[in-house]
Amino acid sequence: MAKFEDRVVQNVRGKFYVDWSCIYCGLCDETAPTVFREHKERGWAYVFHQPETPEELERVREAVEGCPTESIGTDGDEQDWSRPPKTYDPVSVQRKPWWRFW
Ligand code: SF4
Repeated sequence: MAKFEDRVVQNVRGKFYVDWSCIYCGLCDETAPTVFREHKERGWAYVFHQPETPEELERVREAVEGCPTESIGTDGDEQDWSRPPKTYDPVSVQRKPWWRFW
């Protein structure tokens, strides 16, 4: 289950967000490409645009259900976005799965 305090910093404010447990399997940005995007250098997905239409929302719900690591949070609209995420040094942790290096 995604934790708001563990969200990646690239998320835009809103109901949905991705946290650091993302393994970047690519499912969410394939399912909802107008909402999720890969952060190529870091190897995780993030929300770059919150869904606005019923079609986008449906696709996001599909991505939430399909995420293998449950890394997509759905309670962002109940959270305080002025609180920064927990400190994390992504450079010291290899995030990108080995199969995505080529
Ligand atoms: S579906 Fe989940 S694990 Fe896969 S890229 Fe999206 S947030 Fe990350």
